[in-house]
Amino acid sequence: MNPALRQEYLAALGLETWVMRGKSALAAAPREITAPVESPAVHAAPAAPVARAREAGVSRDDSAAREAGVPRDDSPAREAGVDWPELRARVAACTRCGLCNTRTQTVFGVGNQRAEWLIVGEAPGADEDRQGEPFVGRAGQLLNSMLRAIGLAREQVYIANVLKCRPPGNRDPAAGEAAECLPYLEQQIALLKPKIMLAVGRIASQNLLRTDVTLGRLRRQVHHFGVSRVPLIVTYHPAYLLRTPGDKRKAWEDLKFAREVCARV
Ligand code: SF4
Repeated sequence: MNPALRQEYLAALGLETWVMRGKSALAAAPREITAPVESPAVHAAPAAPVARAREAGVSRDDSAAREAGVPRDDSPAREAGVDWPELRARVAACTRCGLCNTRTQTVFGVGNQRAEWLIVGEAPGADEDRQGEPFVGRAGQLLNSMLRAIGLAREQVYIANVLKCRPPGNRDPAAGEAAECLPYLEQQIALLKPKIMLAVGRIASQNLLRTDVTLGRLRRQVHHFGVSRVPLIVTYHPAYLLRTPGDKRKAWEDLKFAREVCARV
Protein backbone atom coordinates (compact mmCIF):
# COMPACT_ATOMS: atom_id res chain seq x y z
CA MET A 1 0.00 0.00 0.00
CA ASN A 2 1.05 3.55 -0.65
CA PRO A 3 2.91 4.64 2.55
CA ALA A 4 1.14 8.00 2.66
CA LEU A 5 -2.24 6.33 2.35
CA ARG A 6 -1.37 3.82 5.07
CA GLN A 7 -0.33 6.67 7.33
CA GLU A 8 -3.68 8.32 6.68
CA TYR A 9 -5.53 5.17 7.75
CA LEU A 10 -3.30 4.71 10.78
CA ALA A 11 -4.05 8.28 11.73
CA ALA A 12 -7.74 7.38 11.65
CA LEU A 13 -6.90 4.63 14.11
CA GLY A 14 -5.06 7.09 16.30
CA LEU A 15 -1.74 5.46 15.42
CA GLU A 16 -0.13 8.22 13.44
CA THR A 17 3.18 7.80 15.25
CA TRP A 18 3.40 4.06 14.64
CA VAL A 19 6.44 2.93 12.66
CA MET A 20 6.76 -0.54 11.16
CA ARG A 21 9.85 -2.29 12.52
CA GLY A 22 10.20 -4.93 9.84
CA LYS A 23 8.55 -6.59 6.90
CA SER A 24 6.92 -9.32 8.89
CA ALA A 25 4.64 -8.77 11.82
CA LEU A 26 5.21 -12.39 12.75
CA ALA A 27 8.95 -11.86 12.76
CA ALA A 28 8.49 -8.91 15.07
CA ALA A 29 6.06 -10.67 17.32
CA PRO A 30 7.62 -11.73 20.62
CA ARG A 31 5.34 -14.72 21.04
CA GLU A 32 5.16 -17.85 18.97
CA ILE A 33 1.92 -19.01 17.45
CA THR A 34 0.52 -21.47 19.92
CA ALA A 35 -1.19 -24.73 19.19
CA PRO A 36 -4.65 -24.34 17.73
CA VAL A 37 -7.45 -24.11 20.22
CA GLU A 38 -10.15 -26.66 19.65
CA SER A 39 -13.14 -25.06 17.98
CA PRO A 40 -16.69 -26.23 17.42
CA ALA A 41 -17.69 -28.40 14.52
CA VAL A 42 -19.94 -26.45 12.18
CA HIS A 43 -22.92 -28.67 12.85
CA ALA A 44 -22.20 -29.59 16.46
CA ALA A 45 -25.27 -29.12 18.60
CA PRO A 46 -24.51 -26.82 21.55
CA ALA A 47 -26.45 -29.02 23.94
CA ALA A 48 -25.71 -27.34 27.24
CA PRO A 49 -26.44 -23.74 26.19
CA VAL A 50 -29.59 -24.81 24.38
CA ALA A 51 -30.77 -26.59 27.49
CA ARG A 52 -30.14 -23.40 29.44
CA ALA A 53 -32.05 -21.49 26.80
CA ARG A 54 -35.04 -23.71 27.22
CA GLU A 55 -34.88 -23.26 30.95
CA ALA A 56 -34.80 -19.53 30.34
CA GLY A 57 -37.94 -19.72 28.27
CA VAL A 58 -36.46 -19.25 24.82
CA SER A 59 -39.24 -19.14 22.26
CA ARG A 60 -39.80 -22.13 20.00
CA ASP A 61 -42.86 -20.58 18.43
CA ASP A 62 -42.15 -20.22 14.74
CA SER A 63 -45.57 -19.03 13.76
CA ALA A 64 -44.08 -15.87 12.26
CA ALA A 65 -41.90 -18.03 10.04
CA ARG A 66 -44.90 -20.03 8.90
CA GLU A 67 -46.82 -16.85 8.17
CA ALA A 68 -43.89 -15.63 6.10
CA GLY A 69 -43.92 -18.85 4.13
CA VAL A 70 -40.62 -20.02 5.55
CA PRO A 71 -40.47 -23.76 6.18
CA ARG A 72 -40.29 -24.92 9.80
CA ASP A 73 -36.68 -25.34 10.75
CA ASP A 74 -35.98 -27.48 13.79
CA SER A 75 -32.46 -28.69 13.10
CA PRO A 76 -29.69 -27.24 15.26
CA ALA A 77 -27.63 -26.36 12.22
CA ARG A 78 -30.71 -25.05 10.36
CA GLU A 79 -30.07 -27.74 7.73
CA ALA A 80 -27.17 -27.75 5.31
CA GLY A 81 -27.53 -26.73 1.72
CA VAL A 82 -29.56 -23.54 1.96
CA ASP A 83 -28.56 -20.68 -0.30
CA TRP A 84 -28.04 -17.05 0.66
CA PRO A 85 -31.59 -15.80 -0.08
CA GLU A 86 -33.20 -18.69 1.77
CA LEU A 87 -30.91 -18.28 4.75
CA ARG A 88 -31.62 -14.54 4.85
CA ALA A 89 -35.36 -15.24 4.76
CA ARG A 90 -35.09 -17.74 7.60
CA VAL A 91 -33.18 -15.26 9.74
CA ALA A 92 -35.66 -12.47 8.96
CA ALA A 93 -38.53 -14.66 10.15
CA CYS A 94 -36.71 -16.23 13.09
CA THR A 95 -38.42 -16.44 16.47
CA ARG A 96 -36.11 -18.98 18.07
CA CYS A 97 -35.21 -16.78 21.00
CA GLY A 98 -36.83 -13.97 22.91
CA LEU A 99 -34.86 -11.27 21.10
CA CYS A 100 -37.38 -11.51 18.27
CA ASN A 101 -39.80 -9.65 20.55
CA THR A 102 -37.61 -6.59 21.01
CA ARG A 103 -35.73 -6.24 17.71
CA THR A 104 -36.61 -3.61 15.13
CA GLN A 105 -35.32 -5.95 12.46
CA THR A 106 -32.82 -8.76 12.08
CA VAL A 107 -29.25 -7.88 11.06
CA PHE A 108 -28.20 -10.65 8.73
CA GLY A 109 -24.77 -9.55 7.58
CA VAL A 110 -23.28 -7.54 4.78
CA GLY A 111 -20.47 -7.73 2.29
CA ASN A 112 -18.92 -9.66 -0.51
CA GLN A 113 -20.27 -13.20 -0.66
CA ARG A 114 -16.95 -14.30 -2.17
CA ALA A 115 -14.89 -12.59 0.51
CA GLU A 116 -11.74 -14.17 1.89
CA TRP A 117 -12.16 -12.32 5.19
CA LEU A 118 -15.08 -12.80 7.53
CA ILE A 119 -15.37 -10.29 10.36
CA VAL A 120 -17.54 -11.48 13.24
CA GLY A 121 -18.83 -9.26 16.01
CA GLU A 122 -21.09 -9.86 18.96
CA ALA A 123 -24.58 -8.57 18.19
CA PRO A 124 -26.34 -5.56 16.68
CA GLY A 125 -26.36 -2.36 18.68
CA ALA A 126 -28.91 0.43 18.50
CA ASP A 127 -27.64 1.83 15.18
CA GLU A 128 -27.43 -1.63 13.61
CA ASP A 129 -30.90 -2.55 14.84
CA ARG A 130 -32.25 0.64 13.26
CA GLN A 131 -30.38 0.31 9.95
CA GLY A 132 -30.33 -3.47 9.53
CA GLU A 133 -26.58 -3.57 8.88
CA PRO A 134 -23.76 -4.69 11.18
CA PHE A 135 -21.03 -2.30 12.30
CA VAL A 136 -22.46 1.07 11.41
CA GLY A 137 -22.06 4.25 13.47
CA ARG A 138 -18.76 5.22 15.08
CA ALA A 139 -17.69 1.64 15.78
CA GLY A 140 -18.38 0.76 12.17
CA GLN A 141 -16.32 3.70 10.95
CA LEU A 142 -13.43 2.61 13.12
CA LEU A 143 -13.74 -0.96 11.83
CA ASN A 144 -13.60 0.41 8.27
CA SER A 145 -10.41 2.28 9.16
CA MET A 146 -8.93 -0.83 10.75
CA LEU A 147 -9.64 -2.80 7.58
CA ARG A 148 -8.27 -0.10 5.32
CA ALA A 149 -5.08 -0.05 7.37
CA ILE A 150 -4.40 -3.60 6.19
CA GLY A 151 -5.45 -2.83 2.64
CA LEU A 152 -9.05 -4.05 2.74
CA ALA A 153 -12.14 -2.10 1.77
CA ARG A 154 -15.35 -2.83 3.67
CA GLU A 155 -16.82 -4.04 0.36
CA GLN A 156 -14.11 -6.71 0.08
CA VAL A 157 -14.96 -8.50 3.32
CA TYR A 158 -18.07 -10.06 4.80
CA ILE A 159 -19.28 -8.74 8.15
CA ALA A 160 -21.70 -10.54 10.47
CA ASN A 161 -22.49 -11.00 14.13
CA VAL A 162 -22.93 -14.06 16.32
CA LEU A 163 -26.44 -12.78 17.11
CA LYS A 164 -28.73 -11.44 14.42
CA CYS A 165 -30.98 -9.49 16.80
CA ARG A 166 -30.14 -6.73 19.26
CA PRO A 167 -30.12 -7.58 22.96
CA PRO A 168 -32.14 -4.84 24.69
CA GLY A 169 -30.04 -2.14 26.31
CA ASN A 170 -26.94 -3.56 24.60
CA ARG A 171 -26.64 -6.18 27.32
CA ASP A 172 -24.40 -9.18 26.75
CA PRO A 173 -26.12 -11.98 24.83
CA ALA A 174 -27.36 -14.81 27.01
CA ALA A 175 -25.73 -18.19 26.42
CA GLY A 176 -29.01 -19.61 25.17
CA GLU A 177 -29.53 -16.77 22.70
CA ALA A 178 -26.06 -17.29 21.26
CA ALA A 179 -26.60 -21.04 21.05
CA GLU A 180 -29.87 -20.56 19.17
CA CYS A 181 -28.40 -18.07 16.73
CA LEU A 182 -24.93 -19.47 16.09
CA PRO A 183 -26.12 -22.05 13.52
CA TYR A 184 -27.11 -19.18 11.23
CA LEU A 185 -23.55 -17.88 11.32
CA GLU A 186 -22.25 -21.40 10.78
CA GLN A 187 -24.41 -21.63 7.68
CA GLN A 188 -23.09 -18.27 6.48
CA ILE A 189 -19.57 -19.61 6.93
CA ALA A 190 -20.45 -22.76 4.99
CA LEU A 191 -21.69 -20.61 2.11
CA LEU A 192 -18.88 -18.08 2.25
CA LYS A 193 -15.92 -20.44 2.77
CA PRO A 194 -13.67 -17.65 4.08
CA LYS A 195 -9.89 -17.92 4.15
CA ILE A 196 -9.74 -16.28 7.55
CA MET A 197 -12.05 -15.13 10.33
CA LEU A 198 -11.46 -12.12 12.53
CA ALA A 199 -13.43 -12.27 15.77
CA VAL A 200 -13.79 -8.80 17.23
CA GLY A 201 -14.45 -8.50 20.93
CA ARG A 202 -14.65 -10.83 23.87
CA ILE A 203 -18.22 -11.98 23.40
CA ALA A 204 -17.79 -12.97 19.76
CA SER A 205 -14.46 -14.65 20.46
CA GLN A 206 -15.68 -16.64 23.43
CA ASN A 207 -18.83 -17.78 21.66
CA LEU A 208 -17.01 -18.81 18.50
CA LEU A 209 -14.30 -20.65 20.41
CA ARG A 210 -16.62 -21.91 23.15
CA THR A 211 -14.36 -20.81 25.90
CA ASP A 212 -14.36 -18.38 28.79
CA VAL A 213 -10.66 -17.59 28.36
CA THR A 214 -10.07 -13.84 28.41
CA LEU A 215 -9.66 -11.93 25.16
CA GLY A 216 -6.15 -10.94 26.21
CA ARG A 217 -5.14 -14.60 26.32
CA LEU A 218 -6.91 -15.44 23.06
CA ARG A 219 -5.03 -12.77 21.08
CA ARG A 220 -1.93 -13.53 19.02
CA GLN A 221 -2.82 -17.15 18.43
CA VAL A 222 -4.15 -18.95 15.40
CA HIS A 223 -7.39 -20.61 16.42
CA HIS A 224 -9.49 -22.67 14.04
CA PHE A 225 -13.23 -22.71 13.56
CA GLY A 226 -15.47 -25.54 12.45
CA VAL A 227 -14.89 -28.74 10.58
CA SER A 228 -13.18 -26.82 7.80
CA ARG A 229 -10.85 -25.36 10.42
CA VAL A 230 -10.95 -21.81 9.17
CA PRO A 231 -8.08 -19.86 10.79
CA LEU A 232 -9.53 -17.47 13.35
CA ILE A 233 -7.75 -14.49 14.88
CA VAL A 234 -9.05 -12.55 17.88
CA THR A 235 -8.88 -8.81 18.40
CA TYR A 236 -10.64 -5.99 20.22
CA HIS A 237 -14.09 -4.70 19.34
CA PRO A 238 -14.00 -1.22 17.76
CA ALA A 239 -16.55 0.03 20.32
CA TYR A 240 -14.09 -0.99 23.06
CA LEU A 241 -11.27 0.75 21.20
CA LEU A 242 -13.31 3.96 21.07
CA ARG A 243 -13.56 3.80 24.86
CA THR A 244 -9.98 2.60 25.33
CA PRO A 245 -7.85 4.20 22.60
CA GLY A 246 -4.67 3.08 24.35
CA ASP A 247 -5.35 -0.44 23.08
CA LYS A 248 -5.58 0.58 19.41
CA ARG A 249 -1.93 -0.25 19.01
CA LYS A 250 -2.59 -3.83 20.15
CA ALA A 251 -5.46 -4.07 17.67
CA TRP A 252 -3.13 -2.93 14.92
CA GLU A 253 -0.70 -5.70 15.88
CA ASP A 254 -3.58 -8.19 15.71
CA LEU A 255 -4.56 -7.00 12.24
CA LYS A 256 -1.02 -7.32 10.94
CA PHE A 257 -0.86 -10.78 12.48
CA ALA A 258 -4.13 -11.76 10.79
CA ARG A 259 -2.88 -10.43 7.46
CA GLU A 260 0.27 -12.53 7.78
CA VAL A 261 -1.73 -15.63 8.65
CA CYS A 262 -4.09 -15.07 5.73
CA ALA A 263 -1.16 -14.72 3.34
CA ARG A 264 0.04 -18.19 4.37
CA VAL A 265 -3.31 -19.96 3.97
S1 SF4 B 1 -31.17 -13.60 17.88
FE1 SF4 B 1 -30.99 -15.21 16.34
S2 SF4 B 1 -32.04 -17.00 17.23
FE2 SF4 B 1 -32.75 -15.15 18.36
S3 SF4 B 1 -34.61 -14.48 17.25
FE3 SF4 B 1 -32.87 -13.32 16.39
S4 SF4 B 1 -32.25 -14.54 14.60
FE4 SF4 B 1 -33.51 -15.88 15.88
